[in-house]
Amino acid sequence: MEQLEGTVLAGSAFEPMAGRVVVDDGEITAVEAVDTESTDIVLPAFVNAHTHIGDSVAKDAAVGLSLEEAVAPPDSRKHRRLAAASREELVAAMGRTMGFMEQTGTAAFLDFREFGLEGARALRAAEDGRDVSAFIFGSDDPAVLAVADGFGASGANDADFSAERAAVREAGAPFAIHAGEPDATDIHPALDLEPDLLIHMVHAEADHLERVADQSVPIVACPRTNAVLDVGRPPIRELLDHTTVALGTDNVMLNGPSMFREMEYTAKNFDVTDREVLRMATTAGAAIAGLDCGVIEPGRRAALLVLDGDSDNLAGTENPRSAVVRRATGLDVKRVVL
Ligand SMILES: [Zn+2]
Repeated sequence: MEQLEGTVLAGSAFEPMAGRVVVDDGEITAVEAVDTESTDIVLPAFVNAHTHIGDSVAKDAAVGLSLEEAVAPPDSRKHRRLAAASREELVAAMGRTMGFMEQTGTAAFLDFREFGLEGARALRAAEDGRDVSAFIFGSDDPAVLAVADGFGASGANDADFSAERAAVREAGAPFAIHAGEPDATDIHPALDLEPDLLIHMVHAEADHLERVADQSVPIVACPRTNAVLDVGRPPIRELLDHTTVALGTDNVMLNGPSMFREMEYTAKNFDVTDREVLRMATTAGAAIAGLDCGVIEPGRRAALLVLDGDSDNLAGTENPRSAVVRRATGLDVKRVVL
């Protein structure tokens, strides 16, 4: 048994509380208010809800390129770099990225893995020996579900995914798809596939949002990537008013997968509360992937992040929850419990 003391951002409201989290055999068994000398801040470890960590072999190779030039299959800079990398290079690069995710407090990530069964196997190989876990949305052929946790489709304008959709449903696995990234034309076709998860929805309009609410489809927003690829700003306020929204750092080619950076950017550029941003970075992604983490409460898996509230950066904050969302960096991480 172990006790983590400090300011605990407990429950679904992340209300700062002086107290302790009791952990036994990887599970939170109690959350108690107590007087404590500890200046630590204890919060749920992050769930990064959308990544492409395969492009760890192409970091910063697409600066200044458009969406089409940077990442569109099959001839983009990304796809050429991926095709040129050996399996060994790919696995090593993905492993380094996973190391960085662990260091910056991420417990799990939902990855769209390119290159079908081989691609999914390479990510499983990179995961070996790591504490952070990959929820893999595999590609190409539903047979990828032998290794992957779900199926990730590039977008409804790229191909007719109805056969894949049916096979994935038959297998009882989740089906996710990009929608509304450069424009709105693929949103209704994506919703027609009855997806379990939509990525982006930058160009979602009122009728799309109504369908999203009717179909109860969660959405992952990737606002930094949308900015760098200049496709527009996701309507995060409206998305939150209609469904569950999680945050993802998207292509490693374009962004380091630090949830601190995604949170700060989101809090400062959109009409959302810090509490909502923290929920998007923890609870929402966990719920989407069916993971038993993302909230500090008894009975949950103890995937926890401990920040040094007395670091030079965080010392003296008057609002620990806002400090986590708007100010903290990887340098403030004291410990990641996974
Ligand atoms: Zn993506």
